[in-house]
Amino acid sequence: MGLLHRAGARLTAHPEDAEILVVNTCSFIDTAKEESINTILEMARHKTAGTARKLIVAGCLVERYRDEIQKSIPEVDAVVGTGELEAILEAAGLAAPIGAPSPFTILSGAAAVTLPGQESQSGSHRQTTEGTGPFKPLNSGPQSTAALAPETTSRPEGDARERQGRFSRDDWQGAASFLPTYLYDENTPRVLTTPKSSAYIKIAEGCDHPCTFCVIPNLRGKFRSRRFESVVAEAQQLVARGVREITLIGQDTTCYGEDLGLKDGLATLLDALAQIPNLRWLRFLYAYPNRISSNLLATIARHNNICKYLDVPLQHASPDVLKRMKRGAGADIFLKTLEKVRKAVPSIALRTSFIVGFPGESLRDFEILEEFIKEAKFDWLGVFNYSDEEGSAAFPLDQKLPKRTIESRKRRLMKLQQSISKRAKQQWIGRELVLLAEGESEETPLLWEARTQYHAPEIDGKVYINDFGDLEALEQGRFYKAQITEAHDYDVVAKILSGPLD
Ligand code: SF4
Repeated sequence: MGLLHRAGARLTAHPEDAEILVVNTCSFIDTAKEESINTILEMARHKTAGTARKLIVAGCLVERYRDEIQKSIPEVDAVVGTGELEAILEAAGLAAPIGAPSPFTILSGAAAVTLPGQESQSGSHRQTTEGTGPFKPLNSGPQSTAALAPETTSRPEGDARERQGRFSRDDWQGAASFLPTYLYDENTPRVLTTPKSSAYIKIAEGCDHPCTFCVIPNLRGKFRSRRFESVVAEAQQLVARGVREITLIGQDTTCYGEDLGLKDGLATLLDALAQIPNLRWLRFLYAYPNRISSNLLATIARHNNICKYLDVPLQHASPDVLKRMKRGAGADIFLKTLEKVRKAVPSIALRTSFIVGFPGESLRDFEILEEFIKEAKFDWLGVFNYSDEEGSAAFPLDQKLPKRTIESRKRRLMKLQQSISKRAKQQWIGRELVLLAEGESEETPLLWEARTQYHAPEIDGKVYINDFGDLEALEQGRFYKAQITEAHDYDVVAKILSGPLD
């Protein structure tokens, strides 16, 4: 979006207003593929019946079904994989072909997308758009990607796994054979779609882990970190733009910097980012369980502006299942890890996610998981049904479980977590906490929605504000002191005590 915007495109969230439709896709599990394909088909209807002239499909679905997409959905004019982000410009008719000296020299304020309510497009825009001629498929072979890719690094583990075929796409007919190597940097333009006070920063791409259910490494490529200075510079820029909460993401954030020769890279990065004035909340998601170092925990504990929050997807608790998932460990080891985490950072909120129905998951395996959840008492928990993905090491395994069994196990875990969460949230009543006000509730204008440092954006429960205290109104994106007055299964209700805080 940043590249398109910088090239002169005006962005709209309304497909009926757009001349160019871009569908950014996901394809790591069945439900994500289904949602992506349904969205492409819906947008294709806009192209045949509306004003849209081009339909571009971007993202992970392209990594997996590059040829298939255009063959099966002829309305699609271009595909852009995750390793060739700049190719979106050529696809949209906003840039010279890849390899030209500067993709931006031909631009002169071309606008390819209209915002609702904008006056009709200028002559120069029409000329530029029409002047691109009939759409030509992108030159998106390995050479063109290499031309765009910054120099990337790798870890010895990644190199070894590559030799073992971890990233192979041989089972995927119609996928390009080359892996993405792309990494954005602090100079890559971005359009933030998150509320103005919050932003995500991706600190690394790809993954070297061998988890047998997962095709993300095949889609995203080998693990590579963004330069340390680049991440710090981007964070500084975002804070200068008014962002007050930064969430660091990557397929495995706890590996950050290993390919750059950094020891305890994530802790070092957090230390540096926490020094940025006016950055009120800093957090990271997707920690790998055996990489939660004492130094990392000490760093979380040391800085007031690092949220006391840890997201560590554990995937299962039965040692047998974890062994077959090629993740190792088990309930006993995990309980020790959680104890270490809670000791180092006493008030920390813990989030995890599990997969139910992995091939061969016995009732006993499932009960081990259930027992573990009862003991671990996570603040937030997600459960995913096993998705059988071609190209994953688990795909050829026997003993696949019936969908109904998987679904009922998922429901059983969610019900269990509901009762754990309900009891835990009762303990919140009376607590005084700092809230980030996010805006009026979608359910009713009588309530505002907010989050504490113990809630990551979008995924965890909510804080509803039903009492503004002495204040006439609240400001979106500002922080307030509040007291929790009521608790529900996952959500709590609060009353404002003072604010906005500086
Ligand atoms: S660590 Fe996460 S992204 Fe990497 S292979 Fe395992 S599940 Fe997939």
